[in-house]
Amino acid sequence: MRLKNIPGSREVIGASGFVEHEPEKWAGRWRERFGNDYPVRVEIGMGKGQFLMELARRNPQINFIGIEKYSSVLLRAVQKMEEEPLPNLCFVRMDAQELENVFGEGELDRIYLNFSDPWPKERHAKRRLPSSAFLDRYDRILKADGELEFKTDNRALFDFAVEELAGTAWRVRELTYDLHRDARLNEGNIMTEYEEKFSALGNPICKYIIFREK
Ligand code: SAM
Repeated sequence: MRLKNIPGSREVIGASGFVEHEPEKWAGRWRERFGNDYPVRVEIGMGKGQFLMELARRNPQINFIGIEKYSSVLLRAVQKMEEEPLPNLCFVRMDAQELENVFGEGELDRIYLNFSDPWPKERHAKRRLPSSAFLDRYDRILKADGELEFKTDNRALFDFAVEELAGTAWRVRELTYDLHRDARLNEGNIMTEYEEKFSALGNPICKYIIFREK
């Protein structure tokens, strides 16, 4: 994805109360951070936050954490939260490679990946968020019956993601190659910024929901 550096974004993020600046401190204790006993769900690579904010609005009894690598992108989500603070949502600026330092074993109820960067070069395959290297990380921080949801319009990345499940304990609960034409799976679907953009171009949206067989 092309990134525009927005001057001052690091400072705004650094001073924002909607961003958790010491996420490691809450590993295994995120419910305490939210001050309740609700389940905790995470979107990795949340971008400008449209999906997660709507999810948090619709589900006040679930805690949501949005993870984003770049301040310039996270800035827009922070600005939206300033206009409409949501008590069950907070953001963390971090690289998903560090997930295990920030979440305890089995702490999360669900993980969302939406329109993850494709990293098309083979030598970068391990950086793809639905790669087996990342699935191992998710395995440790998701609770036993936790789920991982992944949406993309990138068919090559989706095929890769499905192939990565072979030989693992991950199993497919739901899968579609055209989410918006699947009335059952599309019910209650919340569009991300990328989903709006690419479905408007006519691209079908692929989605899977996976879980682990224990
Ligand atoms: N999920 C949003 C959507 O669907 O509109 C944004 C999609 S955008 C293509 C991918 C986002 O993931 C970018 O904002 C990027 O900075 C973020 N990202 C990519 N790799 C990441 C990583 N390893 N850790 C955290 N964020 C990451």
